[in-house]
Amino acid sequence: MTSTASVSLCILCGEPATDAIDPPRRTLARGLDPGDPSYSVTVILPDIALCAEHSLGVRHGERLVGWCDDQRCRTYGALGEPSACGLPYAKLDPTKRN
Ligand SMILES: [Zn+2]
Ligand SMILES: [Zn+2]
Repeated sequence: MTSTASVSLCILCGEPATDAIDPPRRTLARGLDPGDPSYSVTVILPDIALCAEHSLGVRHGERLVGWCDDQRCRTYGALGEPSACGLPYAKLDPTKRN
């Protein structure tokens, strides 16, 4: 057996993901680096991994995806649902700058 790259899992149900869709926005400004005031931290968000069923749901707007930017998570999940750190997944507003 050759080792394969880690399989992405659907962010909504944990089944192996068959699809990856673009997030509503690609970057997330995290503000200034406290150790270097001249440097602002911008995060590049990954694709949203989804199984076939949830990919359809998200594309049709039936399921909403949020992001938890807590350093313990930094993952996608169902919008408004509590993430692993306890904070709910927050909406990724495509127009907001910060
Ligand atoms: Zn799924
Ligand atoms: Zn979290």
